[in-house]
Amino acid sequence: MVVIPLIKWNINIFFSKLLIIICLTNNTPIAIFSQTLPTGFVDIKKEIPEIVLDIRYATPNNFVGEKLDGYEEGFAWGLKEMVLALNEVQKELKEIKLGLKIFDAYRPLRAEKHMLRWAMSNNKNHLLGVYIPLKVRTDSIYGHTSGNMIDLTLVDSTGKELNMGTDFDEFSEKAHTLNAKGDILENRNKLQAVMKKYGFKNYPKEWWHFTYQAKKGMALDIPLGVPKNPVVQTK
Ligand SMILES: [Zn+2]
Repeated sequence: MVVIPLIKWNINIFFSKLLIIICLTNNTPIAIFSQTLPTGFVDIKKEIPEIVLDIRYATPNNFVGEKLDGYEEGFAWGLKEMVLALNEVQKELKEIKLGLKIFDAYRPLRAEKHMLRWAMSNNKNHLLGVYIPLKVRTDSIYGHTSGNMIDLTLVDSTGKELNMGTDFDEFSEKAHTLNAKGDILENRNKLQAVMKKYGFKNYPKEWWHFTYQAKKGMALDIPLGVPKNPVVQTK
């Protein structure tokens, strides 16, 4: 195997650098990439290894029905302050043999544009402004694009989801946090209580969606992972 460092590729004027290395194995080039996170961000799975990830927008298993732009890998990134708080949530849940499962965390702007395109071309305009951001903002905000919002649920010690009554991204009144009864309401309340304790605020129309209120951030468009077909320069 021959390993040849080729280039450093700046993919974003803000912070990211990408080191691209090409490995030649049996004359077949394989690209191996490492990626630096945006300033102030951490990889949630690295900080909290026990957390379960199911990053739906990196797969076709989501409301759009295809992988969203910018989700090259099923990573969960977030502002460090938010992830520290999330770690406290996970620790407290562990004491009662529960844990967290993340559906989405930091979301690149291009993914929100993808959602917007899908809604407008599929007659889903009623979702805009309620479930899908209507405007793409790039200033200091609370948002998935700024790394201080997170979508998640509770799992038991085997990783099985607790019954929350609906799936993630159910765009109906059934997903309104308090619109439930019995065990389902109890499970939703359990999630709300522990998240609230560590500084997260729930969106009442989505039981899974929380904002970390202590920290605003800049909206970013850095992809999660490396695009599969980057333009590789040889010099
Ligand atoms: Zn969300």
